[in-house]
Amino acid sequence: MKNIHEWYREKLGNKVIDNLKKNRFNARYINNKADSINYLEEIINEYDVIAFGGSTTVLYELKLQDIAISLGKNVLNHNIPNLTVEEKLKIRKKQLTADLFITSTNAVTVDGRLVNIDGTGNRVAAMIFGPKRVVVVCGINKIVENVDEAIKRIKFISAPMNAKRVNSKTPCTETGQCVDCNSLERICNITTIIDKKPPLSNIEIIVIGEHLGF
Ligand code: SF4
Repeated sequence: MKNIHEWYREKLGNKVIDNLKKNRFNARYINNKADSINYLEEIINEYDVIAFGGSTTVLYELKLQDIAISLGKNVLNHNIPNLTVEEKLKIRKKQLTADLFITSTNAVTVDGRLVNIDGTGNRVAAMIFGPKRVVVVCGINKIVENVDEAIKRIKFISAPMNAKRVNSKTPCTETGQCVDCNSLERICNITTIIDKKPPLSNIEIIVIGEHLGF
């Protein structure tokens, strides 16, 4: 059974990669987490000032921020304890012009579009324009058929879990279900669809053949 799962993941992953390339993104499929970490460490090593999107895949499963810190990189982290609101804001703005910005995506469609819903907008802004290089890391579980399915996936799975992760006082963190709330702590304020690579941005998407993040 394992081989059939692997076969399916590779077929699906590579189909998405082909379509991402048609949409002018750099893209590659990597079978597993360990090989992905090796590849990403090589990329991290090429740059000095590095920022990360708030992503379970990137921060907690692949631990890429820890790797960058251990390599002595200048990591722009607005979640360091005891920062003032102004200090956090200043770091978030600097992230927009980092040498390297690594994040995940909430969903990627089979025809090669990146779909995200963000609360503050700094993550999606940095994905679109600013950093010298953007790397988007995506578990196989985030592939969906089309944009409608992407938004359904985000509202059904990603957003309630992300709201819980950041401790938002929103209805979904009580029930696990999105009710399209009007809460002041709502994390779903901006929806972006990157259809094709913008001309002045250098964006690479790595699809990993494992279940990562949510
Ligand atoms: S309930 Fe509000 S914060 Fe939670 S997923 Fe829905 S819109 Fe987003």
